[in-house]
Amino acid sequence: MISEKVQRIGASPTLKISAKAKAMKAEGIDVVDLSVGEPDFPTPENVKEAGIQAIRDNFTKYTASDGILTLRQAIAKRLKEDYGVVYDPKQIIVSAGAKASLFHLIQALVDEGEEVIIPAPYWVTYPECVVLAKGKPVIVPTREEDGFLLTPETLKASISPATKAVILNNPSNPTGGAYTRDQLLALAEVIKGEDLYVVADEIYASLVYDNFKFTSFAALGEDVKKKTVLVNGVSKAYSMTGWRIGFAAGPAEVIDGMSKIQSHTTSNACSIAQKASLEAYEGPQYEVRKMVAEFQRRRNYCLMRLAAVPGLSCFKPQGAFYLFPNVRSFFDKEANGSKIRNSYGLAYYLLKEARVAIVPGDAFGAGDYIRLSYATSMANLEKSMDRMVEALAQLKTAKKTRRVALSNAVTRVKKAPPVEAVADARMRDALAAEMESHLGYEGRYEWNARIGGAVIQLRTNVAHLNDFWVEGFPPAPGEADVRPHGVVYAIDGIAGREPRGFYHEATQTGVLVNTDLYGALRGMALGLAMDIAGRSGGGAAGAVRGMAVDLDGRGLILVGPPGTQKTELFFGLLADKRFKLLTNELAFVEIAAGRARATAVERKLFMPTAAAELDPRLAGLFDRSKCENVVVRKEDCQDLACQRTDDCRLDRGSAYCYKAAKEAHALLDPAWLGPAAAVRQTDLRWLVLLRNDATSPAVVELARDEALRALAAGEAAGAKQALSGGKTQPFYNPHLLGLSPEKIEAQRAFFEPLLGPVKCVLFNSGAAGADRLKDLAGSGR
Ligand code: PMP
Repeated sequence: MISEKVQRIGASPTLKISAKAKAMKAEGIDVVDLSVGEPDFPTPENVKEAGIQAIRDNFTKYTASDGILTLRQAIAKRLKEDYGVVYDPKQIIVSAGAKASLFHLIQALVDEGEEVIIPAPYWVTYPECVVLAKGKPVIVPTREEDGFLLTPETLKASISPATKAVILNNPSNPTGGAYTRDQLLALAEVIKGEDLYVVADEIYASLVYDNFKFTSFAALGEDVKKKTVLVNGVSKAYSMTGWRIGFAAGPAEVIDGMSKIQSHTTSNACSIAQKASLEAYEGPQYEVRKMVAEFQRRRNYCLMRLAAVPGLSCFKPQGAFYLFPNVRSFFDKEANGSKIRNSYGLAYYLLKEARVAIVPGDAFGAGDYIRLSYATSMANLEKSMDRMVEALAQLKTAKKTRRVALSNAVTRVKKAPPVEAVADARMRDALAAEMESHLGYEGRYEWNARIGGAVIQLRTNVAHLNDFWVEGFPPAPGEADVRPHGVVYAIDGIAGREPRGFYHEATQTGVLVNTDLYGALRGMALGLAMDIAGRSGGGAAGAVRGMAVDLDGRGLILVGPPGTQKTELFFGLLADKRFKLLTNELAFVEIAAGRARATAVERKLFMPTAAAELDPRLAGLFDRSKCENVVVRKEDCQDLACQRTDDCRLDRGSAYCYKAAKEAHALLDPAWLGPAAAVRQTDLRWLVLLRNDATSPAVVELARDEALRALAAGEAAGAKQALSGGKTQPFYNPHLLGLSPEKIEAQRAFFEPLLGPVKCVLFNSGAAGADRLKDLAGSGR
């Protein structure tokens, strides 16, 4: 598993969208890419020539880690000439792009838990940089009416004792908004009294329009400069994105800190690119002015076209090369069956319908907007504007659509609480009495289920739990007069109590307090039933936790902890129509006359809805099933990997997502899988213990005593780490409640005779897949 902090970040959405546009182009689709953040101009000839000369001169070795002195001197000179700020070359560090400077800077400044203020809309990289430094991004929204600029009041209100820095991007990516000198002075006033740094990302400083006068934050005075780290580079101003040269200028201690980090990351930036950048800064600046004039013309053209689109409004930016139109009014509209829910959805629609790639505002923390870059040719801009205008005009107010009727219960508690063993009989009676006192006449549910060989009674005041229980388990025979072997209380709404489970073994009583999650109730009930089977079976009956299939009357059960591809193999087998499903969780097994008869314990399959990713048929079936905790709002999504991508299915109009929550389950009727797709019983022949590693052989047959040892250890020998991160589960069974030496003995007494008719193998899912298992299941015996 990769680190939590890396799970929390997403890959750069702008880069991903550009990659997608490129891939579409490669397929021959005529896409116009307005997602890119780079000028379409070639790097100036004199700059390229300087690079080539550097190669000719063999200037192709490591340089000083902070950058060659001549370049740092040239940067210092340009900063002084252009912005009136004076830096010693020692206060400047050259890095592989401004991005690298920013990354090193945040690493140098921020300690765990420290806050960095980031005005939104923000450039996508800022929050991720802070997260990777284990800092806390404090996102501060700005208003379009304020030009998307941070106001002194908002800044002041956002500062806390934990604030380490504030990032000011001027002019801004994605809005193009730029601060006047007066606006910056007002912010500087706030900052003067505070102990924090200003990260002034001025990478677009040269690209300002309508004679806007750019002011560098560091130019506001000596006291402000001491707290400012200025970041800039050649990427945008000299059309040199691929050369990867950026820099930071600031207080010596900060630059020294960055220098230490850089000495361990990239060392110096590319020597050739440094020489080229030296020429960029020292040579004639004519090309920059030419480019700025052209960008201004393109900006004006796009603004004019967008102004004519009904429902769209666009802020007129002073700098950079982006437009950030407000597209709010298109949300909830639809065309050709696609409904637009948010900026991701609109981006997707525009890519599909208009073949124009833009970046959704959500990526920048401003969901009502999209970003388009006008750093592409006028011909491209004309084509894309034509297409966008047409596609947006097609979006019509959606007819009142009926909500998709998903039967979905959202529970308050999402995780099974810990279960405590209760030894004392008086305590059990007190608990039962307390639970009974909450079971009134109204809203009381009672039902006997047959689970394996045992009859378990549920007493609950939660309608949802009763609903799933009655649906999930078969009824006890002669329901009215059978005395249950065990009882489970599931009582919700007890004031002052935490969600909690209790288990009293002697009377087979389970108690679930303030827990409305069926997964928790079911787990406890299965535990009880297995305990009863283990005690009363005398070795002749028991339960095996695993996923089981049947092939021509012979059964195979897959047993293994998470990470061993159990589910994938299970679905791999079921994809072959000869295999029929028995259970995805637990088989009740009776051993008699040299045969092991396995029965499905549940009548419905309680399935993680994420399984729909493995077998697409399932999604259609879950739609008709009773579900628990399926995600219907993006806010509830737990899928860290998927959350920050631009292909969220909720965004694309789906009413729910089956994979967004870990605890989302459906009660699936196995009969729906097809007329002969499932069986209720099989003759168990194969017990497959799964492991997943790079070295073990695919299949190893185990002798009875070896198999018993592996089972008791709860891990396939030799695969400890890969299996469960060191945690083991005796007999692979988390449903075993309160493990005692007697219980372990009872398990042994069951598995010992089971391993006569049933052959045990170790199967390495790292070495072989479902096909190998099929061969195994089909072979002899
Ligand atoms: N800051 C901002 C605001 C940017 O938009 C970019 C490039 N998209 C960068 C920094 C990084 O530029 P580079 O790494 O190419 O120097």
